[in-house]
Amino acid sequence: MILPKASRLTSEQIAEVTAIVADFGCKIQPIVGAVRSIYAIVGDERDELMINRLEGLNYVERIDRIQSPFKLMDKRSDLASHRIKIGGVTLGEKLFVIAGACTIDPKNPSLFYETAAAVKEAGANALRGGVWKPRTNPYSFQGDVKSLDILMEASRRTGLPVDTEVMEEAHIALALEAGVTTLQVGARNALNYSLLRAIGKAIAERESAAVLLKRSIHMGPLNEFISAAEYIAAFGNPNVILCPRGTTPTLDGYRNHPDESITPLLKEKTWAPVVVDPSHSVGKACYVPAAALAAIAYGADGLCIEAHVEPAKGIGDDPKQALTPEILRNTIVQARQLWALRRGLGDQ
Ligand code: PEP
Ligand code: MN
Repeated sequence: MILPKASRLTSEQIAEVTAIVADFGCKIQPIVGAVRSIYAIVGDERDELMINRLEGLNYVERIDRIQSPFKLMDKRSDLASHRIKIGGVTLGEKLFVIAGACTIDPKNPSLFYETAAAVKEAGANALRGGVWKPRTNPYSFQGDVKSLDILMEASRRTGLPVDTEVMEEAHIALALEAGVTTLQVGARNALNYSLLRAIGKAIAERESAAVLLKRSIHMGPLNEFISAAEYIAAFGNPNVILCPRGTTPTLDGYRNHPDESITPLLKEKTWAPVVVDPSHSVGKACYVPAAALAAIAYGADGLCIEAHVEPAKGIGDDPKQALTPEILRNTIVQARQLWALRRGLGDQ
């Protein structure tokens, strides 16, 4: 829909916009009002170049898109009834909790095995563990491929499906071959379109694989987040879960600016499940339970929480933001109660 700066376009301007949209197989239908006229673009109006050309005209105030730019992730798309199932849980039907260490310590595998058993006992449905780590400081521990074996051994011992972050193409194949079911795209890579494409291609033939797509620290408009998911789904596997995890600028005292409140907004636009990460959002264990419950109150389908049997002995983020198994268990119990309450099911 073209909204002109003046009350209506001149006949020369109508001829110009008609010629532009014709290049993209569209037509112009004027909608004449008593005071103001607007001009509908009839046809597939999603072409970015067409919109850019129209927006570049100095007599155009703005272009309003009627069609969603997301062919697959839009709530009105054919995939709207698609459901993602991980470890026996269909997201949206039951609260889905991923929990585990930020970073697996390859020098101390038993801590991760104990953590895995503890998060299972606390009620988690999937286990997380960082093998490769995106670290702000190049001298911090960057992860170790040896941790992939530890992660998979913990998965065998507990029977939990696992989630780990992949940062480059080589990691994708290694993780999938090892048996990782959920590939995590971190906040730093959520805008790395070549990685998103590579993940989309790699999981295209693997129905059981899924992606936990974190919201980038620098993502503003929600469409940017959903577009990143669309990059992955475009290759054929739409198992993409959106994960708000806080953005910048930080809220003084928290690690990031908590953004669980975008959950209902995401759910208005897309059918994709939302699994909120309160751990990176607030960045301190004592604030995590409240942030987790806030996410559920906002309608999240699940949570991704960092937890550790002995946070002080952990590496990466664990000493400051991992929950102990006991606090994790209480948080999950309360989250399940709230989840059921919110869906009108009463306490379960
Ligand atoms: C993590 O999950 O440990 C992590 C690094 O997350 P994010 O990409 O959200 O910072
Ligand atoms: Mn972490």
